[in-house]
Amino acid sequence: MHHQLPLPLLDSLQDIKGFDAGSFIQSHESNNSLTSIRINPTKIFDFKDAVLQIEEKVPWSSSGFYLNERPSFTLDPLFHAGAYYVQEASSMFLEEVLKQNVDVKTSLKVLDLCAAPGGKSTLIQSLISTESLLVSNEVIKTRVNVLSENTTKWGARNIVVTNNDPKDFQRLPGYFDVIVVDAPCSGSGLFRKDPDAIKEWSVDNVALCSQRQQRILADVMLSLKPGGLLVYSTCSYSYDENEAICDWLTSEYNFNTIKINTHKEWNIVETESQKNHAFGYRFYPDKVKGEGFFIAAFQNRNEYSNTKSLNTKHQTKISLQQTTTLSKWIMPNEVLAFFNWKDDCIAFPDFVVNEISILQSALYIKKAGVNMGSIIRDELIPSHELAMSDLLRDDIDTIELDKENALQYLRHQSFEYSGLGKGWLLVKYGNLSLGFVKAMSNRVNNYYPKEWRIFNK
Ligand code: SAM
Repeated sequence: MHHQLPLPLLDSLQDIKGFDAGSFIQSHESNNSLTSIRINPTKIFDFKDAVLQIEEKVPWSSSGFYLNERPSFTLDPLFHAGAYYVQEASSMFLEEVLKQNVDVKTSLKVLDLCAAPGGKSTLIQSLISTESLLVSNEVIKTRVNVLSENTTKWGARNIVVTNNDPKDFQRLPGYFDVIVVDAPCSGSGLFRKDPDAIKEWSVDNVALCSQRQQRILADVMLSLKPGGLLVYSTCSYSYDENEAICDWLTSEYNFNTIKINTHKEWNIVETESQKNHAFGYRFYPDKVKGEGFFIAAFQNRNEYSNTKSLNTKHQTKISLQQTTTLSKWIMPNEVLAFFNWKDDCIAFPDFVVNEISILQSALYIKKAGVNMGSIIRDELIPSHELAMSDLLRDDIDTIELDKENALQYLRHQSFEYSGLGKGWLLVKYGNLSLGFVKAMSNRVNNYYPKEWRIFNK
């Protein structure tokens, strides 16, 4: 169905740099839909095992690719293995913004404040060092599950998923080196992909979004270190949600604008806010191979006198016996700390232990590190997270399935298996783990998480 772009939106964009009404409207009328993915550098796979037809690289991303067509990702077992994330190309520019402003090889504490479903978080995790920590937060409870699912599939051990309101981060003054605010917005940048969103758009909603964006930023900025990096982005074209926010941050608060280098042929438009000439970067769908997007970066010039020491919460370490049980499942040489968490055991990189204690006293943690599973009578019932993570030993008994049987496994249905192995077996497709099964003498029990199973035939 064809929807007309809102006239008040088009009018409001007339004087904005880079806006060209004719080609902008045309780009929304042509059915030129783009699909792009970003591959997971920790999960090595062969493109021929996936359903992907790669067209070309996303120019501003080290691991992003455009596809020739949109396949059914649901029917690609490698998608469920976390081999790649389906992400809109413009937003992958976050990689450049981070690389140009922080040394990603050092140990950083990064907050992704508005994180669900996890596109920016998985990008950030792939970029930062293994000695860095990413706090991936989502305020809306019902959206935290999909964030947990996507970060679990990504297989990382240095992500903490939290479910907090931005103002809760005031309990962590000056804590983060980097804060990314991919703010909720009026969504005009996605009109081409999702024409139904046009009906939801209104002038009033843009004003409301702009106010909400200011509130979110004001609430979270105290938790940024002096000198730290603040990245702000939206998928809206509206000035009030973009450059006006940059003006507000640089007038009302002590933030400096940061210029980002772009290649001319990328066609990203650099704008300046009216009052303070703060830089912003606009992605127009008639100029770039991507959807509408805005991003800007700032340096925190605030000094906080209030450097009270942060509270910590005591963790319950697991017993030596339990540690021995867990060690059988993980790669030797890993330096990990294990803790009890409800009925399960959690593994963290050693360096995170203190940070987890601090975060736990301030935030509601939904998931942290790698859930190993539960120990019953000195035996580990391995969790799905362990199967997805690179902590798992590489000599676990494994069954390799072909594509049809891999899909049967993911549907939680019976699949062909004629092996002789008994006990816990890792199910793989195309060299990547899909999950566990437990083989008994007369049947195989499927341990793929029921809530993630696929229904597609
Ligand atoms: N960063 C995500 C990604 O790349 O996959 C997309 C984030 S989306 C643009 C904005 C998120 O902000 C949504 O998940 C939404 O639930 C959340 N949100 C809504 N209201 C919020 C608020 N008042 N404070 C913080 N986050 C909010």
